[in-house]
Amino acid sequence: MSESLKENTPKTVKAQKLVGVKGMNDILPPDSARWEWLEGQVRSLMARYAYRNVRLPIVEPTALFVRGLGEVTDIVEKEMYSFEDRLNGEQLTLRPEGTAGLVRAVVEHNLLYEGGKRLYYMGPMFRHERPQRGRYRQFHQIGAEVLGFGGPEVDAELILLANDLWKVLGLKDVRLELNSLGQPAERQAHRAALIAHLEKHSDVLDEEAKRRLHSNPLRILDTKNPAMQSVVEAAPRLLDFLGEASLAHFNAVKAILDANGVAYSINPRLVRGMDYYNLTVFEFITTSLGSQGTICGGGRYDYLIEQIGGKPSPAVGWALGVERVLELIKEQGEALPDLAPDVYAIIPETAALPVAMQVLQTLRACGVSAQMHAGSGDGMGSMKSQFKKADGSGARFALVFGAEELAQGLVAIKSLRDGEGAQRTASLSTVAEWAHSLQSNT
Ligand code: ATP
Ligand code: MG
Repeated sequence: MSESLKENTPKTVKAQKLVGVKGMNDILPPDSARWEWLEGQVRSLMARYAYRNVRLPIVEPTALFVRGLGEVTDIVEKEMYSFEDRLNGEQLTLRPEGTAGLVRAVVEHNLLYEGGKRLYYMGPMFRHERPQRGRYRQFHQIGAEVLGFGGPEVDAELILLANDLWKVLGLKDVRLELNSLGQPAERQAHRAALIAHLEKHSDVLDEEAKRRLHSNPLRILDTKNPAMQSVVEAAPRLLDFLGEASLAHFNAVKAILDANGVAYSINPRLVRGMDYYNLTVFEFITTSLGSQGTICGGGRYDYLIEQIGGKPSPAVGWALGVERVLELIKEQGEALPDLAPDVYAIIPETAALPVAMQVLQTLRACGVSAQMHAGSGDGMGSMKSQFKKADGSGARFALVFGAEELAQGLVAIKSLRDGEGAQRTASLSTVAEWAHSLQSNT
């Protein structure tokens, strides 16, 4: 710390260190580079599929999720960060997922007025869960949603989109599971058969299953409790209760996937966590992340728009967990994107700063990434320490703004990556040309 800074710092009792909220992570360099890279790949792929971006509030009325997701779901029962606005008493919730808010916005702004929409979002979601690998309290989702189209072709398009994303991200070991939840009347018939089956085996049902037996028995099929596996495996399959139209929809989705070489397996017990799904549901799963292996899930939700107060319109979508996808990329040993600047500017004396910074501005305007050595407030530091910083930055070149060279209108260029550290000079007026040659060499 410089002398003047020391003198001016108020003397206080040492403040207690504050730490972040459990399960809510800081995303810092160099890891954040992988986040930016992933987001860039997503934006570019979404553009190729003509999906448009939406950015929605993180806080929504609590009633939106209670009504949209269903009262007897994990999220609404125990995972929501809900609070009362101290100033006006409104009941609010940090969004636990993106679909309900997106549907709210689509209805509020009458977006389906001139036809269907293909939309996507990225952003933080909040669920009060037990933090562990791949499960956090603030996590991030990227979601794609198609609203206003009822045909199986958009279900298939969304699956192809996700499948392409795994390809551009270089993910291996991702498999697709598919199921159809049919329509409400078909689910009603299945529900009765399912309750009868589960009641016959009530001795092995856990507390949660018993509680959901009459409110949401389908969700019991989703249980992770090993003691209940044989009972749920033997349960009546919803697929066997589907009528002709639902089966035709399901078969059409499968035919498009087959024609496009997308492999899948049918999982009759795949039900998904929210109540709003019907017909096609799917999950992309990896075995490389332990028990948090679902990286993306989605399906059709033809009744949600109406439930949230809009004109009945079909819809389908998916959401992926960014942390899980990034963990999978890491697991596969992918290197981090290179963050090193092209150039590190070494500035022996403060007098050289104005000219040096002018040159750096020129380089940056040419697309060269340039990092300037910054002093401590009482000088720029020794040449030795500046070169150490330059090496540490990973830059390819050091530009040395020495007084002698500057007096002749020159700057020294030192290569940092070849062993000899070859050095030459360039005139300040031609440094832009040198920068262009740098760009064309990369
Ligand atoms: P799970 O069964 O693992 O709890 P879910 O069915 O609750 O997942 P969805 O609501 O479908 O998950 O969310 C879509 C994706 O978001 C999941 O497949 C997962 O990749 C990710 N995800 C969900 N909850 C979390 C969390 N708490 N932390 C990190 N990622 C999450
Ligand atoms: Mg969950």
